[in-house]
Amino acid sequence: MELEKTLLRKVGEAISRFRMIRDGDRVAVGLSGGKDSVTLLEALLKLQKRAPIDFTVCAFTIEQGKFLAPIQPLGEYLRARGIDWTYVEDKPSLNLLTEHPDHGCDLCSRFRRRAVYDVVRKLGANVIAFGHTADDFCEAFLRNAMFTGRLSALPAVTWSRKREFRLIRPLVYVPETLTRAFAASLGAPVIPCGCSQKTGTVRRTLRDMFGDIERDHPFLKETLLSAMSNVEHSRLLDTRFLDLESDSDEAGFLGDGQTLVTLSSAS
Ligand code: SF4
Repeated sequence: MELEKTLLRKVGEAISRFRMIRDGDRVAVGLSGGKDSVTLLEALLKLQKRAPIDFTVCAFTIEQGKFLAPIQPLGEYLRARGIDWTYVEDKPSLNLLTEHPDHGCDLCSRFRRRAVYDVVRKLGANVIAFGHTADDFCEAFLRNAMFTGRLSALPAVTWSRKREFRLIRPLVYVPETLTRAFAASLGAPVIPCGCSQKTGTVRRTLRDMFGDIERDHPFLKETLLSAMSNVEHSRLLDTRFLDLESDSDEAGFLGDGQTLVTLSSAS
C-alpha cells in the first residue's frame, strides 16, 4: 500500500506540474513488456478513478521482433484485469530485422514511431504515455552532456509533428527501484527485450556508474532531477541566455565574488 501511495504521489505530481492529462483526453499507454510501462498503466488506471477530470486509458504494444519471450502472458494478465489492450506486429520492423540485422536505435525508433502513431490513431487517442523513468531521464541527461555536447534530457511533455498527439512521460519522478517493486507486487509478467541484455553500451556504463556513486549518495537521481528544474543560465556558456550587453554590477558579478568573464576579457 505504501508503494502504491508513493507511486501515485509521484505520478500525480508529474501530471499536474506538466499539465500532462486534460479533461476529455484519451490516453494510450505504450506497453513495452517491461516493468516500467505496466507500472505506468496501473498508475494511470488508479488515478483515473480519483481524478477530478474525465479521461480514458487504453494500452498497446508494438511487436518489433525483439522480445525474448512470448508476449501471451502479458495479454492474459491484461485481459484478466479487463484492460483495453491492442497488440500489433509491425511488419516493416520485422523486415528490418531480417534485411538489416545490425541496424541501430535511430532506424528502430523511427519505425516504432510510425507504428505507434498508426495504432494510436486507430485507437482514437490524443495522448500517448511512455514509461520512461527517473533513471532514464538521469541517464539521458548525462549521456547528452558527456557524449553529445548538449545539456538536455528527455521531454516530460511534448507534441508529435502537427500537434496530432501529446506525448507524455508521467514516470519522470519515479525511480526504477519503485517500478520494479510495484510490478512485482502486481505479479505482472515482464517480457524482456533483447536490447536490454546488451553489454558494453554507453547506457550500461552509465547505469554501472550510477550504481557505484549511489552506494555513498543514495539521493543522486533526485538531485539530478532537481538540477534539471533549476537551471542557472548565467553559470553556463550558452550566450543565447547571457546578458552580455549589460554593464551593471548585478550582471557583472557572480554571487561568490568571481567576476563574470566577458567575451573581450576572455579573448
Ligand atoms: S534499444 Fe533496441 S528496441 Fe530500443 S531503439 Fe534501440 S534497437 Fe530499438
